[in-house]
Amino acid sequence: MTHTMTPRTRGFDLWIEGQPRPASSAATFDRINPYDGSIAGTYANADAVDAESAIRVARAAFDTGVWPRSTSRTRHDVLMRVARLVEEHAPEMAMLMVIESGKPISLARGEVVGAVRTLEYYAGLALSDEGTAVTDRNHSALGLVIKEPVGVAGLITAWNFPLLGLVNKAAPALAAGCTVVAKPSPLCSGPSVLFAELLSRAGLPDGVFNLLTSDIEGGAVVGAHLAASDLVDKIAFTGSTGSGRAVLAASAGNVKRVSLELGGKSANIVFADADLDEAASTAITAFCFNSGQQCSAGSRLLVQREIYEDFVAMVVEQAAKQRLGDPSVEDTTMGPLITPAQYDRVAGYIETGFEEGRLVYGGLSAPVPPDGVGRFVPPTVFADIDNASRLAQEEVFGPVLAVICFEDERDAVRIANDTRYGLAGGVWTSDVSRAFRVAKALRTGKVFVNAYNTAGIDDMPHGGYKESGFGREFGRAGLDEFVELKTVQVKL
Ligand code: NAD
Repeated sequence: MTHTMTPRTRGFDLWIEGQPRPASSAATFDRINPYDGSIAGTYANADAVDAESAIRVARAAFDTGVWPRSTSRTRHDVLMRVARLVEEHAPEMAMLMVIESGKPISLARGEVVGAVRTLEYYAGLALSDEGTAVTDRNHSALGLVIKEPVGVAGLITAWNFPLLGLVNKAAPALAAGCTVVAKPSPLCSGPSVLFAELLSRAGLPDGVFNLLTSDIEGGAVVGAHLAASDLVDKIAFTGSTGSGRAVLAASAGNVKRVSLELGGKSANIVFADADLDEAASTAITAFCFNSGQQCSAGSRLLVQREIYEDFVAMVVEQAAKQRLGDPSVEDTTMGPLITPAQYDRVAGYIETGFEEGRLVYGGLSAPVPPDGVGRFVPPTVFADIDNASRLAQEEVFGPVLAVICFEDERDAVRIANDTRYGLAGGVWTSDVSRAFRVAKALRTGKVFVNAYNTAGIDDMPHGGYKESGFGREFGRAGLDEFVELKTVQVKL
């Protein structure tokens, strides 16, 4: 054991009206460290009563108008101050992710850096995002397009990006002047609780940001309550497509604004003319990052026929370089899966893989770290998968790769788009025209060319086509999700 932080075993509290509060029922729940089975944190277990009280506080904070009518300079300054506080608390933030979600420390640190940059980015946009004025040719009328905050925003997040997944909603929501009720995942609440405390320390007025922790059962109840509430104007949701559907249906009552960041089954396409060494090593991180527990995972690897066998061998060689183990150790690249239930789910897909393809690396009998109670799955690669099979169509959310052979560009695009999801994609080729043609043809919210997951540019819009959801996070588009446009016409 090399943990450098003592878990916070005091009862974490809900954050309502700028104060920590226990649940109204006084119930708590424990979060178990997926690596060693210890208690990583104890949290207040909110229910619908707490959800209602947080919503009413956020509603009142919006309606009294202190934050919505604050100057853009005030919002900028609060966001910049909280960015500095998150930076100061980076080691604690990162370790909360490690002990609650099993995310390797190097990835957790990277997530904190991403959160700080996102806060700074939206602090900047708070200052610069202006409305517009127009006049007619005779100057007999003046038109104004005014930007206003959408109102009370419910932010519901998944566990796999426990800090950034909240910050990429909260920063634009606060920059726009919204008030917030946030509901983090039951499986990794710590970073969100700490973030709520830091927002208050940064000078955010009481009641503007409220937070509800709850266990798995309670999480669905609290999330559903937020989605159904007539006092909430907007839901920004990240999670599975199934939960997203429930949120969408529950939100219909008051026709609230909804954005959904859902699952994926993204295709990473390798043409014969690509830089194959680079493509093979990136193909591994594309599906093994965070032990495959990522929405944009390149979990379908499409390989052109003439290089197929050679490239599969190169991928296998790279897969062997992953280092599984204690997520708090610096050079670990893959930690345990988040829960025993998630392990069982992934193991089920691996069983399916034996029926649907040819195992070329990994599998459940491959050696995994013996220490602790962590449920590890090594990188697992199935070749010769048909795109119609379950392994090619369903989101596994674990480090399992389906390798699929294609003939030519048209075939690659057809296979890549033959899915209900549409989150991301990768194209590897040395032909610039082809790269652009394929990027255009893919029905996904983002495409990486000769890269996967990032080519090095921050703040670009992220979101899905088809059943991967709608709406965008990051960039200016992320702010627009929390803004209403009002036009005013003045007769001169
Ligand atoms: P999940 O759907 O189980 O839970 C997500 C959140 O929704 C949690 O906070 C949960 O408590 C809450 N919730 C559950 N049922 C609800 C309901 N009926 N109404 C309202 N809220 C409800 O997902 P998860 O296991 O936490 O996360 C994994 C999923 O998230 C994967 O499918 C992954 O692809 C997706 N994800 C997508 C993105 C993206 O940007 N597209 C990013 C991260 C994760």
